[in-house]
Amino acid sequence: MGREFQTVLAALLKILPDYEDMLVENLVRPFILKDEDYKRLMDIMLGEFNKGLGKETNPTAKVKMYPTYVRDVPDGSENGNFLALDLGGTNFRVLLINLNGQEVTMESKIYLIPQHIMTGTGEQLFDHIAECIHKFMSNHDLLKEKIPLGFTFSFPCKQIGLNHAILTQWTKGFKCEGVEGEDVVRLLHEAIKRRGDIDVECLAVINDTVGALMSCAHSDRDCAIGLILGTGTNACYIEKLENVGLWDGDYNEPKQVMINTEWGALGDDGCLDFVKTEYDRQVDKHSINPGRQIYEKMISGMYMGEIVRLALEKLRKHGLLFGGKGSEELSTRGRFYTKYVSEIESDVDDHFKNTKQVFEELALEKYSDEDCRIAQYVCSLVSTRAAFLASVGVAALLNKMDRQDVTVAVDGSLYRFHPHFHDLMVEKIQQLVKPGMKFKLMLSHDGSGKGAAIVTAVANRLRESEKESIGENGLEN
Ligand code: ADP
Ligand code: MG
Repeated sequence: MGREFQTVLAALLKILPDYEDMLVENLVRPFILKDEDYKRLMDIMLGEFNKGLGKETNPTAKVKMYPTYVRDVPDGSENGNFLALDLGGTNFRVLLINLNGQEVTMESKIYLIPQHIMTGTGEQLFDHIAECIHKFMSNHDLLKEKIPLGFTFSFPCKQIGLNHAILTQWTKGFKCEGVEGEDVVRLLHEAIKRRGDIDVECLAVINDTVGALMSCAHSDRDCAIGLILGTGTNACYIEKLENVGLWDGDYNEPKQVMINTEWGALGDDGCLDFVKTEYDRQVDKHSINPGRQIYEKMISGMYMGEIVRLALEKLRKHGLLFGGKGSEELSTRGRFYTKYVSEIESDVDDHFKNTKQVFEELALEKYSDEDCRIAQYVCSLVSTRAAFLASVGVAALLNKMDRQDVTVAVDGSLYRFHPHFHDLMVEKIQQLVKPGMKFKLMLSHDGSGKGAAIVTAVANRLRESEKESIGENGLEN
């Protein structure tokens, strides 16, 4: 080899890593949004909130801003035994909760919902739920008792009362025939009646966002936002009645109501197109609900792993990862779990222990430390974008409410287990809120159970006192 050529080759090899970095950078750059983009997104979000709240604008709004019938945070006097159901994505649970002032105890059991039921008929779904309630009551020796039940049903619903919720559309992988447009409490009661062997009445149906808010508010009176970052994403907050054009209930004190934003649907009219990437479009295209829940698909646990997988596959196909050689696993839709993102980003040194473990699970045969570094980089870009996008929604709510101190109750495995989600959100929300505004993000423990029990306790107390006053006044009316 000529000397000159050797020199050129050495120089080339030296810049090659930089050149490769640049190629990688080119393919993942769309995940990086500018500060102005996030600011613009917050303004869009605020506009969508107001559109959803307005009586005239709501019918065409994508972010539906459903008024719940929950008007106030708990006062701590709630007590008794309650059953709760938590249905809304990855796990279905039945819970038994005892409330006694600040003391809360609970037992719960997770029941599997088989795939064929998730996409079967409504009757099959509710028969299955009723069967799980029966099993749970039988195991806890409760079959002879009459226990009020609260239902945490975390899909978009138009509520027409505390225990009436009409499902508007399935999301998050569910699609049971004959439920959209129906009252899910009625369907539950019918299934219970079909069995005839349990005495359970559902007094309240809530969303998991409301559950998170209520359960945190039980110990923190400043709590005014409930946020979910799990299978899907959504948030609720406390709004003044005067701002709720849709409100058809009474105007008694407290003149406020919790609004279930259903913000996952932001972007369904194309308003997020300017930040969507080709990876987001792929995820949407292959989902069970294309064109729907666009904001949710850019943020939540059901989709994040798949976004990362698509980006890694793209890099591999360009020869920028794993020497261009992938695996059947890496090429399989849904096979890169969102928990991998947390695991990979939890590697703090150059040994890349978790990252290599994930590569092994994906049956990748050949990988270098550089591959580990790139995979970690891709994960961090996707999760940072998700955390910042969720922050946009929280900041929009904080600015809208304009309170001095607000605690945000957060539930969901993505927030709970990702190593940086909390810190990233605090950073971005701080940048976006009005100066001087104070907020806290607080992990909500078991909101879907405890929250449902609290709301059910209040409903039960009201019902008992109504019965009493009927008893006292006679039944002449
Ligand atoms: P749900 O929202 O259905 O109530 P979870 O709050 O448990 O349930 O969220 C489930 C979602 O969280 C799944 O999409 C899953 O991919 C994701 N998830 C589970 N474990 C982790 C983890 N360690 N890091 C990030 N996401 C996770
Ligand atoms: Mg949940």
